Amino acid sequence: MSISAETTQQKPPVAGSQRLRSFASTVQLPGFGLPTQNCQRYVPRGVCEHGHIQLARSSCELRSCPDHWREWATKGTESAVARLAAYREAQKHALNKRMVHVVASPEVTGEVTERRLWQWRSEAQQIARDAGLRGGLMVVHPYRTTDELDQLYGQAVAGGLPGDYGKWRFARDLAAGDWKAQQRYISAAPHYHIIGPARDVDGGAVAGLDGWVVKMIRSLPRHQLRDPEAYEALAGVTWYLRSHAAHQPGRHSVSYFGAVHPATFDPQEALTASQWDQVCQMANHAVEPPGADEEALCGADDCEAPVFDLYELAARMAQIEWFNPLDGTIKNQLIGLKLWYIDGMAVPPPHTTTDKEALLSWLERKGWEVAHGPVAAAGSTMRLLSDY
Ligand SMILES: [Zn+2]
Ligand SMILES: [Zn+2]
Repeated sequence: MSISAETTQQKPPVAGSQRLRSFASTVQLPGFGLPTQNCQRYVPRGVCEHGHIQLARSSCELRSCPDHWREWATKGTESAVARLAAYREAQKHALNKRMVHVVASPEVTGEVTERRLWQWRSEAQQIARDAGLRGGLMVVHPYRTTDELDQLYGQAVAGGLPGDYGKWRFARDLAAGDWKAQQRYISAAPHYHIIGPARDVDGGAVAGLDGWVVKMIRSLPRHQLRDPEAYEALAGVTWYLRSHAAHQPGRHSVSYFGAVHPATFDPQEALTASQWDQVCQMANHAVEPPGADEEALCGADDCEAPVFDLYELAARMAQIEWFNPLDGTIKNQLIGLKLWYIDGMAVPPPHTTTDKEALLSWLERKGWEVAHGPVAAAGSTMRLLSDY
């Protein structure tokens, strides 16, 4: 018996607010931590045809970071898509090349504690196997949204909120980064999402087993090496699941088990080098459509000139017809940038790296010093200065 037709929405009992506070002090969601000093730093990403240095914040890719948890989610999504697709690619039989998305929920009686959250994860893996999954990617979800949030979300959707604007994104907007505020809209209700290879999922086989409920959400499109559809479907669901996965220091929100676990399945062994290469490329495109950053344009006011990469900087600066007509301030900034980034002969002091203007004026001063004063320059910069 397959239970894909099951429609009953199980609303687990809501833990008391005192209890939620204790659970929620340990188990959070991605993006509710503090930004690190490191991720506030500006780094040069390129230079435009008019010499404007493009500065962007470096991403820490940390799960807790309010600015960069999305990059954490994206990076993990890409590697998960590659691993799961590689597993499917390695299968001999075309019929077997699907992935299913299943959710397993334990019966919650009594207090939800962080210890039980992770104990249940091990049980959930066994439950998933019993239901017919040979393995999979497991995402731990500690919370569900409250009825109040669901109502607010329903109203927002009726009021024209775009269809792809998810419930959790909406909840996050309401909290505006404040974990205390977020707790008003969530209740502790651990459940475990699994994306894994299966012919069929038989929730009936495990129904009633210690109160676990297994629900088939959907079957994903069939894998084909060069068809983006299955990769994109995998990427979409994996990213969304990661966006509200458990965040607890020292614990992985997402793990593999069974047939797709790294100890069992090595894509580089199971596939030819060119197959694995293709799978990685498709996974990369599924999370970052090709061409997204191919046409980088300058971010300076009223400029929009094309941007070239930093590895071209030294060669560009050596072209007198490009470098000489530039404004004096810009020349100094570029010489300073070369001194720092290409020649490695100066490092900006920490307080300048979190402030765009301060960083630019430090670059300008360094460039001026190279041209006029105490700082020695690399040979290639000396040649450049003979025409400056
Ligand atoms: Zn960060
Ligand atoms: Zn520009």
